[in-house]
Parts: sequence; structure tokens; C-alpha cells
Amino acid sequence: MSAYERWVAEKYEPVNRCIYCGSTDNLSDEHIIPYGLQPRGGDWFLPKASCARCADITKRFEGLCLQGTLGPLRTKLNLKSRNKSKTSVETSINYREDGRIEKANVPIDDFPMVCIGFDWDAAGLLRHANPATEFSGTQIVRYPAGEIEKVIREGQAFKLGRVGQLEFARMLAKIAHSYAVAKFGEGAFEPLLPHLILGHDANAPYLIGGDRSGSPLSSQSVLHDVYPQACDVNGVPHLLVGIRLFAFMGMPRYLVVVGKMRGSAVDRLRTNPL
Ligand SMILES: [Zn+2]
Repeated sequence: MSAYERWVAEKYEPVNRCIYCGSTDNLSDEHIIPYGLQPRGGDWFLPKASCARCADITKRFEGLCLQGTLGPLRTKLNLKSRNKSKTSVETSINYREDGRIEKANVPIDDFPMVCIGFDWDAAGLLRHANPATEFSGTQIVRYPAGEIEKVIREGQAFKLGRVGQLEFARMLAKIAHSYAVAKFGEGAFEPLLPHLILGHDANAPYLIGGDRSGSPLSSQSVLHDVYPQACDVNGVPHLLVGIRLFAFMGMPRYLVVVGKMRGSAVDRLRTNPL
């Protein structure tokens, strides 16, 4: 599948402590884009950056997003997988005429190539809103022309997947935080995301949201796009990370508030915008 072309993976020095809790025990490499969303042959990670306890927590919400929601798409794009790829997808078909719902097992080759994401409002902090736990916006489903029509007959509905907004947001938070540490170092900002990533805080929409502004930096051929941004909030410079997963499918962009910037990072980002 050559739907995307560019995949850039940088190399980084080991952190030697957990970027979520600070522990120095049982450290493993932290994939910046989840392992299961990386193309085969590509490897983008921060060495020795997550302890076993935190890795257990992040694995759980990533698993829900990757298997439940994005599973069939990952298989179709031949992205990485630690398990044997499934050959069929469990779904259900809703016959709307009589309301009958039947379970179905659709071969992966016949399952539509769909991608699910969200068109969210911007992060609450950037809108000067109060912390909140409910996202506002709509779910986005994108697929190449004709994909859905291939499997859905007139008068039928088809279960494409299931997405938990909080799990999805925590996955984005993990990408943003690990990317910011990899790119600028832990000293460059006061982190805001670890509590949310570890599940101690549910105010995800306060720091994670959509980005409906302007035209995306990415080109059509990019699998995933991740980039830093700076933004003053009440006069305080903050480090943000823009994320666009499955950019080549036209998925929405997200903008995640990573933390308050400390001097040097601000200068670097302002004099050398990436
Ligand atoms: Zn940890």
C-alpha cells in the first residue's frame, strides 16, 4: 500500500527516567507514535523513557484505540503489530427496515478502509474556558470514495468501530508529551499532561482539542504529522504539539497543550519555527 510516502523518524538520546512519573526503575523505550500506528520498517521512539508501571497504563488506553477503533485500518495499511493480524472483523449489521441487528464476521479484505477521529473544539485552556471533562464536537469518519458503499446495502447500517473520546485523547496526550520531551528535553517546559496520561485527571478537553485553523502543514502523502507550536496564554508562553494521524486520509488535526515553556525552548521555537 503506497497511500503515503513520507515517514521521518528521528533518533534521540536515552532519557534514563520515566517521562511520566520520574521513576528510574525498569525503563523501556517509549514510542512517540504508538508502535501499532507506525509503518513496518519505521521506528520512532525515545530510548529508556517509560517505567513498567506507566507502560502498563499507557498500553491499556492505546490498546483500546488501536484494536477497537483503528484495527482494520492498521491491518489494511500493513502497519506494525505485535500480534498476528486478524483476517476478519467482528461487527454487527443493523437492518433498519425492521430494526433487526445481526452479528457479522466480515473478512478484512471486504471491510471498508475507514478512519475514525474527532472534530473537536480547541483545547479549553486556549479558549479561556474552565477545565471540563466533556468534549464538544463531532465524530469524523473518513474513507476513500466507494469504500462504504461496497459493503453496505440500501437500508442497512454497519458498525465500523467504537471510540472512547477520553482514551483517544490520552493517546494524543502521550504522543504530544513524549514528542515534546524528545524534541526539547524535559527541562524545556513545565509538563501539564502526565496526570492525564496516567489517568489521575479526566479534564482532557482542557488541554487537548481540535485545530480548525488555516491549512495543515502536512502534504497529502504523510501518514502521521507531529509538529511543535508556541502560543501565549494570558501572556505566558506555552508549548503546544500539533498532531494529525492518518493525514493522507484527510483526518482532522489536534492541538495539545504540553506545558508552560521555560526560556530557552521559547527562544528556540520562536527563532527557528519548524
Ligand atoms: Zn513511570
